[in-house]
Amino acid sequence: MTENLIKQRIDRAQHIGVTAHIRPDGDAIGSVLGLGLSLMAAGKQVEMVLKDGVSNSFRHLAGTDQIKRSFSTECDLYIVVDCSDLKRTGGVLQGKTVGIVIDHHITNEQFAELNLIEPTSVATCAILAQNLPAWGFPITPDAARALLTGILSDSIGFRTSNTTSTSLRIAADLMDLGANISDLYNKALINRSFAATNYWGYALARLQHEDNLVWTALTLQDRANAGYTGNDDADLTNILSSIDPLDIAVLFVEQKADLTKVSWRARYGLDISGLAASFGGGGHPAAAGAEIAGSLDVVQKLVLEATRNYLDTAKVIDNTESNS
Ligand code: 5GP
Ligand code: MN
Repeated sequence: MTENLIKQRIDRAQHIGVTAHIRPDGDAIGSVLGLGLSLMAAGKQVEMVLKDGVSNSFRHLAGTDQIKRSFSTECDLYIVVDCSDLKRTGGVLQGKTVGIVIDHHITNEQFAELNLIEPTSVATCAILAQNLPAWGFPITPDAARALLTGILSDSIGFRTSNTTSTSLRIAADLMDLGANISDLYNKALINRSFAATNYWGYALARLQHEDNLVWTALTLQDRANAGYTGNDDADLTNILSSIDPLDIAVLFVEQKADLTKVSWRARYGLDISGLAASFGGGGHPAAAGAEIAGSLDVVQKLVLEATRNYLDTAKVIDNTESNS
């Protein structure tokens, strides 16, 4: 079984590199920390790397000061967590062999020698929490805090439809290991800086909709005006996805003059992961994204057209199913 092979592979390695995806969210950061800190506690030498570093909203987690932006030495095993394709690591593994991938994205390209992919799992942190003790790596209190943070942020506080009784049991076990859920919940999902809130305001002021398709954009100018230092959407997608009624929400975030980040959020019953994959991205049925070459205007037009087409097709399927 893959789990046993992973245990053997980690046992054999002494110097281990761990990384996740660019613009890391709570699950990516929590997975890197949860795995990294547990391996360190067991005596392994570990390098934790995130191409884009750690945003201020997750700096309260112990160990974030040890996360670097590139690998400084050669490791004998590289593990990628919460990342569905090699390109999304941001080039930190160029010329290296990926030994293990642990992920929950249905669109994972299985690019490692050993791939542990569980698409029904609520978060990569949940997969790690379930397996680390069995692999012989005890979850320290700091690792438990990191792993619970990943579960909370990917499930948006246990609100996504892939939240199961198992997700809650895993979270309860992490609480028993020292994680304070109310504190971590507030820090991961509720608290945000003045600049981030101000940044949202620009996008909310130009919010648009056509029936239950909702969209808006964040520009580089908005980021500068608000003094927001991250290169992400400051979790604005969570607000867009709370609009009711909603089929799909799309957020466009200008990255450069010719590069646009797109985030889709869909209601239960739709699957937009294929739509994101058709633009070179990926994700889950209800939450997916892609980084698309092209200016904000051009990408917005293209993506809205494709999303309308997808919705038209999905509605035909919906009708056929309800008639049968
Ligand atoms: P978000 O829209 O919050 O960036 O991401 C939603 C989901 O889609 C996450 O699970 C994320 O990992 C995935 N995702 C976002 N952008 C990309 C991308 O460019 N490529 C791939 N493969 N997945 C993405
Ligand atoms: Mn995740």
